[in-house]
Amino acid sequence: MKHLKPVVPAGLEEPGDVPLLLGACLVIGALVGAIGWGIGQFIWLLIIFPMAMGFGVGIAGGAVVKNRRVRAPLVAMACAFLGGVVAWSMDINIGYVQMRGAITDDLTAYGETLQADTGVTPTPDAIAMATDHLLVAWGAGRDDDALVDAEIAAILIQAPITVGELPETAPPPPVGKLASFEGFVRFRLSLGTSIGQVGQDGTPVGPTGTLALWIVELLLCAGLAAFMAREAAMQPSCRACKEWYSDEVFATVLGVAPRASTFVEPLDRGEIPTLVEGLPLPPGTANFSALMARHCPKCDDAPVYVEATAFTQSKKGTENKALKRGLLDHRYYAEILEAAAAKEAAAAEASEPGDREASLG
Ligand SMILES: [Zn+2]
Repeated sequence: MKHLKPVVPAGLEEPGDVPLLLGACLVIGALVGAIGWGIGQFIWLLIIFPMAMGFGVGIAGGAVVKNRRVRAPLVAMACAFLGGVVAWSMDINIGYVQMRGAITDDLTAYGETLQADTGVTPTPDAIAMATDHLLVAWGAGRDDDALVDAEIAAILIQAPITVGELPETAPPPPVGKLASFEGFVRFRLSLGTSIGQVGQDGTPVGPTGTLALWIVELLLCAGLAAFMAREAAMQPSCRACKEWYSDEVFATVLGVAPRASTFVEPLDRGEIPTLVEGLPLPPGTANFSALMARHCPKCDDAPVYVEATAFTQSKKGTENKALKRGLLDHRYYAEILEAAAAKEAAAAEASEPGDREASLG
């Protein structure tokens, strides 16, 4: 690399922006995820919905990156990825809260019958512990229902109890919220899912297939968010002015050869005559190469950010493809513009012999 220099992000300017970015990504992730959960009560489109949620987090994360000048791609990626994880997992989080609520209601009712038998009223703490225990038991796929019932009863009254035919059962130790969440996730997986077309009965998918589907959805959601935030943080900026380059793009047509070997290499080596060789474009030329340039909005000394772009005509219309991106010294860039303009002007003059004759006469 000689003339084309890679964009090197300037890094964090304000370390305090990281909690801000992370917070924004998590909040937007929760919001987008909640909306997704709401729609998911009626319809769920595989791949598309997770990507739409990731897109939402990516847009928000990218906006904060741009606004707060977070020029640290890894930081931006990590924050947006976590936001995407939150977005994707909202369905499970809300399902967990709902199921806890339903179990708590059931156990409160059960506690009243226990109270009649034992004289002990289960405390809210005991009901919460019993709820956790039940979710872990479901997650583990325990089929010894009678023993689980006895354990639940023992937890509720916080004392050994005999239920049915079983010997006396002592209350098992508390398992904690995390274990109960994990139990719920395992339970949800054990139920599997079904995929199919809207309005049809769908094909059942087993626990392993469901887990694979979840992982794909999670990676799509969080991956897209992370990619978009990284793109925002990788945008060129002026070191001196600490400003992002403006979004305005200046295009300069450079020749007929839209191939890297005949365009990007001379550009990098500084071979300006080769670059403008094909100028002006012969009439009807559909395929050409151009420099798409962006500048610092404040100063003229900063390197110019260019995308060496190939334009090709196909049945779908004009397609453009960036062959190479990088920074050019502003003087070198100016030389290229000058050479291209001179080539065009010379050609224009040559094609108007009438004017020349008139001036000679
Ligand atoms: Zn500048």
